[in-house]
Amino acid sequence: MVIILIDVHCHINLYLALDIVIKNALDVGVEKIIAVAMSSMSQERVLEIASKNSNVFASLGIHPEEVKANDKIEHQLDSVITFIENSKESICAIGEIGLDHYFVKDKELYPLQKTIFDKMLTLAQDLKLPVNLHTKGAEKLVFDTLLSYKIPNVNIHWYSGPEEFLKIGIDRGYYFSITPAISYSPAVKKVALGVDMEHILLESDGPVEYSGEMGVPAMIKNVLHSISKLRNVKTEELEKQIEENTRKIFSKIF
Ligand SMILES: [Zn+2]
Repeated sequence: MVIILIDVHCHINLYLALDIVIKNALDVGVEKIIAVAMSSMSQERVLEIASKNSNVFASLGIHPEEVKANDKIEHQLDSVITFIENSKESICAIGEIGLDHYFVKDKELYPLQKTIFDKMLTLAQDLKLPVNLHTKGAEKLVFDTLLSYKIPNVNIHWYSGPEEFLKIGIDRGYYFSITPAISYSPAVKKVALGVDMEHILLESDGPVEYSGEMGVPAMIKNVLHSISKLRNVKTEELEKQIEENTRKIFSKIF
């Protein structure tokens, strides 16, 4: 059996040289990439890229920072939801969604952010899709909110919050995707060490930068090696386990 690597969280619509990014990923064995939408504008673009590239799979949703970046989001909300509902056959997850009380400092925006998050979780529940979650600075509220919904599976992307909630997430059987920040971030290392093998996933969160270098899906190969070293498990064994994990949470991309 050939084992493949899967990048479960990438903002692929933001690359200028998209074809090169996908080719470089394939060259190191990253055969599937989940493209997560963020803004009201990126929903269609993500779908379009996924329809043209057999290695790219669409995940649609509104990012928590959209309340800061787009003052029309409240009025666009219903049409974005309708768009996602109409695209349900073509998407594998709802995301990137969540709450952010770290990059979004203006507390007046929090109620709208929460309203959007609740609507996105309702969508995931109704469409029976897993979620790709952002929790930065709002970990407690995100974890509390999740209890009100029946979501098939939860992936917490780039977790760097308090250990207390990491433990809760682990107990609840959430998945945690590890970024290239594992090379320098103690918080990410803690996650990579703390989560059981059956719930680890890989992500680039590209094109976000790591130590001044543009993040790309091909980098998850090194993330795999870092986790394998950190946990002292054979790379092949870890790779196989992570593919199995990905098959469980994001079954639609297989
Ligand atoms: Zn992201």
